[in-house]
Amino acid sequence: MSKELFIEDAYLKECTATVTEIADRGRIILDQTIFYATGGGQPGDRGLLVWKGGATEITTTIKDRETGQHIHVPAEGQKTPNVGDTVTCHLDWDNRYLHMRMHSGLHLLCAVVPCGVTGGKIGAQKSRLDFDIGDYQLDKEQISVQLNALVDAAHDLGSSWISQQELDQNMDLVRTMSVQPPRGAGSIRLVAVGESVDLQPCGGTHVKNTSEIGRLRVSKIENKGKRNRRVNIVFAED
Ligand SMILES: [Zn+2]
Repeated sequence: MSKELFIEDAYLKECTATVTEIADRGRIILDQTIFYATGGGQPGDRGLLVWKGGATEITTTIKDRETGQHIHVPAEGQKTPNVGDTVTCHLDWDNRYLHMRMHSGLHLLCAVVPCGVTGGKIGAQKSRLDFDIGDYQLDKEQISVQLNALVDAAHDLGSSWISQQELDQNMDLVRTMSVQPPRGAGSIRLVAVGESVDLQPCGGTHVKNTSEIGRLRVSKIENKGKRNRRVNIVFAED
């Protein structure tokens, strides 16, 4: 299994690694990586792998559902390294940092809207969460103001690990009803925003402080059925 260096340090932009396998269609598996694999609504990372005598552009990173392998997907027609080669991973940091800011912004949205989350998607420019709101009323302007108050409050983000058993005893931690944390995986990562702004299981990449997110704006709230609303956020242009 590839060591996922971004779990402990989401700010790594480069690392060296050893090629452990070349799968079908030239897909590259490494002993360790800084590339986040598509999951939890966050897109997989892209960037460049460089080795002695070659380089290949990585268009995305995915996780094999069956084997759990972390797969670097090269652009078509690119060279591939050999098993055993040492490669340097260069992350497309600008793209990843936008994902980190947006992803962290969605944790704030979770904190502001006190309803169950039924889905979500993160992009570099816009992101969204779907809520099962019941009778709760959502106000676009008010949510924007509350989000920016949390950004301005400069809360630190941190993570810790708990066991499956501890999680079972605290099921209210699980905000995302459609995306349950992986079971049987041993320990589960909890991500906290501030002292008590937001706390939930999450395997994504986050900024260190909410001030890094920058100003946000709710661009639209879509009606997705009687109880469901889709809240879309963008970076505010100011
Ligand atoms: Zn997260």
